[in-house]
Amino acid sequence: MTNPTTDVRDRVLSLPSGELPAYVYDLAALREHAATVRAALPERVELYYAAKANPEPEILAALGPYVDGYEVASGGELDHVAKAVPGRSLAFGGPGKTPDEITAALELGVERFHVESEYELHMLAELARRAAPGSRVAVLPRFNLPVASGSLAAGSLAMGGRPTPFGLDPSEADSVMRLLTDGTYPHLELRGIHAHLASGLRAAEQLAVAESIVKWAVGLAERHDGVRLAEVNVGGGMTVDYAAPEERFDWVTYGEGLAELVSRYPDLTLRIEPGRALTAYCGWYATEVLDVKQSHGEEFAVVRGGTHHMRTPATKGHDQPCTVLAVQDWAHPWPRSAARRELVTLTGQLCTPKDVLARNVRAPGLRAGDRVAFALAGAYAWNISHHDFLMHPRPGFHFLDDVDTESAGGEGAQGEGFAH
Ligand SMILES: *Cc1c(COP(=O)(O)O)cnc(C)c1O
Repeated sequence: MTNPTTDVRDRVLSLPSGELPAYVYDLAALREHAATVRAALPERVELYYAAKANPEPEILAALGPYVDGYEVASGGELDHVAKAVPGRSLAFGGPGKTPDEITAALELGVERFHVESEYELHMLAELARRAAPGSRVAVLPRFNLPVASGSLAAGSLAMGGRPTPFGLDPSEADSVMRLLTDGTYPHLELRGIHAHLASGLRAAEQLAVAESIVKWAVGLAERHDGVRLAEVNVGGGMTVDYAAPEERFDWVTYGEGLAELVSRYPDLTLRIEPGRALTAYCGWYATEVLDVKQSHGEEFAVVRGGTHHMRTPATKGHDQPCTVLAVQDWAHPWPRSAARRELVTLTGQLCTPKDVLARNVRAPGLRAGDRVAFALAGAYAWNISHHDFLMHPRPGFHFLDDVDTESAGGEGAQGEGFAH
């Protein structure tokens, strides 16, 4: 089990049943965490937030003071992030960019393009020539580099080092370098190299990956005389351990390792673009137990909502960590169903056996009407879920923020919103 802060707990317990489930985001906790991450990173390491992990405008804004910019991976994200955090640096990545998306990005003045293929490079060059004939667009080709298998932990998700649709094949590196340096594309400027090879890595593994990317990139530049690499983006993918929610990615060790790495290359700026490890911890998916029942020797509690709101445990095949908040008041004239065993499996309201949020949760005496707060629901949770399946109502959204509550006061001060 993992414990919500008092603010989160109070909010979850104060909501009427009809306003559950709810996503409760602790923006104060997010700020504190982001400040810790920032403080652990040395100079010449830039921090971009991968918006796809959680693009809620309040989250993007709360991260503002701690990040150098945002990585977007679609025209939709581009538009949304540009509005939510106007004027901030954006990097546009992701496979299958359309000509319209690229044009929109050029018009918005996106700072960097992470180019995924040679075809995309040709397209970008032509669109850049038309959109901004007098200027140059910064390009970082993304490469699908080999990852030493020893550096990948079990449960990590590899985007690189094996056949995938992501990035350029390393065999294309020399021809792409030539195209970007021989005057073929006067409207493009080779700024550096990008790679995002795996997710779910611990600090030591991340450092090994970062070092191999940098070495490869520097070696490539050396093969092409006179090419100066200003930046290497080593991607995101810092682990979040759903089985040990109190443990966090070791940012201090990672920062120290990156400091050592950049010290070897005085002209280089490194960039990282984590998503999950920045925002997972600030989010809670809170709900109410609707029923508790036995089935073939096991006990199940059905909660309001389910994996159509928080798909994370279904996609990752884990048990979402949670805390039970017992509720004493019972408004109904019928008795509450209650658990008779120690361990209870928490499921949602969907008519599919896949709608499991957490198996074998130790919750003796759990009763209908009790509340459950699922932790680590701040990344890849609501925004990856199949909301419309079975037509249940959408959750509420609450953004708890000490700063706003004190200064603004009154209704709406805590960023209440049910607009999703
Ligand atoms: C998804 C993604 C990230 C962020 O990954 P996390 O595992 O959330 O840290 C960073 N860069 C690229 C290119 C991505 O696709």
